[in-house]
Formats: sequence, structure tokens, C-alpha cells
Amino acid sequence: MKIVIKVGTSTLTGKDGLLNIKYISDFSENIVKLQKDKHKFLIVSSGAISAGRSRLNVNIKPITLREKQAYAAVGQPLVMNAYSDAFLRHGKIAAQILLTRYDFEKRVQYINVRNTLNTLIENDVIPIINENDSVAVEEINFGDNDTLAALVAAAIGADKLIIFTDVDGFYGGHLSKPHIIPEIETVTEQIESFASVKSSNGTGTGGMKTKLIAAKIAVSSGIDTIITNGQKLNLLKDIVSGCRAGTIIKAKQRYLKAKKSWIAFSKKSKGTVFVDTKAADVLVSRGKSLLAAGIKKVNGNFKRGDAVTISNIDTNKDFARGLINYDSETVERIKGRKTSDIKKIADVVEEEVIHCDNLVIL
Ligand code: GLU
Repeated sequence: MKIVIKVGTSTLTGKDGLLNIKYISDFSENIVKLQKDKHKFLIVSSGAISAGRSRLNVNIKPITLREKQAYAAVGQPLVMNAYSDAFLRHGKIAAQILLTRYDFEKRVQYINVRNTLNTLIENDVIPIINENDSVAVEEINFGDNDTLAALVAAAIGADKLIIFTDVDGFYGGHLSKPHIIPEIETVTEQIESFASVKSSNGTGTGGMKTKLIAAKIAVSSGIDTIITNGQKLNLLKDIVSGCRAGTIIKAKQRYLKAKKSWIAFSKKSKGTVFVDTKAADVLVSRGKSLLAAGIKKVNGNFKRGDAVTISNIDTNKDFARGLINYDSETVERIKGRKTSDIKKIADVVEEEVIHCDNLVIL
């Protein structure tokens, strides 16, 4: 099995912000034991900014981007050293991979990342992945490592995504009596509402929002996602062998194939085309391509080949995403027109504005 584990700063560092070397050592030892059963692991690890800040003896949390980037530059080698040393004690090799969203944007680059990761795990190396915080600015950042972990899991076609957190799972139910939901079949609006509240007894659900977003990416790509307490490393073995611990969000039965998952989640949407309910139905239930005739309105500034969102103008709901064959100016000119008319207006003539092979219903 290919397993991606996401471990966050709160699990990896102590109150002083310093890396918890003992934890990293125990975590690595558990992974090495499980590797004996032929499982392959990839770790998406945070901790860089916190470790760097503590190394520099700065007490306050970084506010500006350049502070965060500077602390990450100091902290990332510390994180990496901790893993390298821990794995080496068991004769295993760890490798560092630092990514930005840009690496997921272009198909060639994305496949390159996928190949590199697969080559590492085939060689029994444990990739330690983090966002390249020292260079990532807003346009090219993932925002959080939960999303990064889900995109990595989708890219390599992982079997499981395990998200460590500091509570025992995903809490739901009434605020006065929150309880862990052991299994989530579908991430409904109600489930999402649980992620946005904090429980009253201190078992915080803070941070669950990004975990759910990540889980939605993973399960739509066919990957079971488990949210569990990262401090309880003894549970890892059970989780890997399919026993229940924490919350499992089940992979969708009908999930997106690799390329469609990339279109849906890895590429950032650069704009929106609006269609009416009738055209939306044709796309959703009949799996057709999007033609200019069905387009009512265009938003954003995009180029040919960019990912754009398709929204229902009547309900204002985004329902699909696809790779567009025309730039935004041209779509503006050809919208509502029949294919035969487009030839008179536009230079590049493609029958479909978004071909069904490049269109994903969300
Ligand atoms: N990449 C950041 C770090 O290593 C953390 C981001 C996150 O935890 O989501 O400090």
C-alpha cells in the first residue's frame, strides 16, 4: 500500500516551538516497522517555520510573509535533519521534497513530481515533503499542508491518506456533547458545519476545516482518508491494517481518474464561465462537452489551457471545472454563438470550448 501521512506543527513541536526529536524518532520507528509489511510511506511534514523561529529565539509568531519565509529557511533543514537522523538509525534513508503549487499547475511538471516521488518509494526511501515556504508567495502557495498532502496522495495514487491532528478524530453532534464520528460516508453540509465550530469541552475541532477540504480532494480521487490523533502512534499499525481509529472518510465509489483529479484540484481556477440550468444538465447528466452556444457569461482573465470553473447562472452554484480551449477575450466574443458562427469570429477554431475529456463534474 502507498500511504501518505500528514503531520502538523502542533504534533511535531513542543510548547517552546522546538522540534520534538523524541516524537520524530518514535514516529520514524513506527514507519520503519510497517515498511516491513511492504507498505510505502510518504510524509508531509510541517514544523519548519516554528523550528526556525525557535532556533532564532524569536518569541512572537511571524506576521509578515518575509518573516515566515526566513524562519522556514532556518527551520526546514532542522526538520529534515531530525527525520534523516531518525530513519538512519534504522538503516533507512529519507529524502527532502519541497513543493509549491506551481509544481502542480503544469501537467509536465506534475507528472515529473509524481515520477520522482514514485522512484523514491520504489527505492525504499521515505520522502519528507513540505511546502517550499521560503519562496512560496500567495499565488503559488497551497495555504496549508492538509491540502498539499491530499494533492500529493492524489498525484501518486495513494491507497490511504492519514492526517494527524491533536484530537482523537473528527467531532460532530451537538455542541454540548460532541462525539467522534467514526465513519463519514459523504462529506455533507452538516459535516462541514461541524468543522466550523469549536466544541465546548476543549476538544477543539479547530483546524478541521482544512482537513475536510483535504479529505474531499482525497476521497474524490479514490483515497480513504483518516483523521486521527498523531500522539497515539500505537494506532498507526491498526489504521494501516484497516482497523478503525479516529475518523475514516470513505473514498468515493465512483472517483476521478488521475488526470481528472488533477484538473479538478491541482490546477488553480483562473476564471468562471456561466451556463444556464438546461446547459448544466446536459453537461452533468449526459457527459457532453461545453460548447460556446451554452455560455451566458464569462468572468476572469484566462488563457487557452487554463482551468476554469463552470457555474450555473440560475443557481449561482459552481458545478464543474475544465481546461478551456479559448482565452477569456475570445470566449467573451463567441459566447452564445453556434459553432458555425465561431469560425467567422475567432482565429483558433475548436468545436468545444471545454472538451468532455477535460471536464470534471464536481
Ligand atoms: N509549511 C509550514 C511549515 O512547515 C506549515 C504549514 C501547515 O502546517 O499547514 O511550517
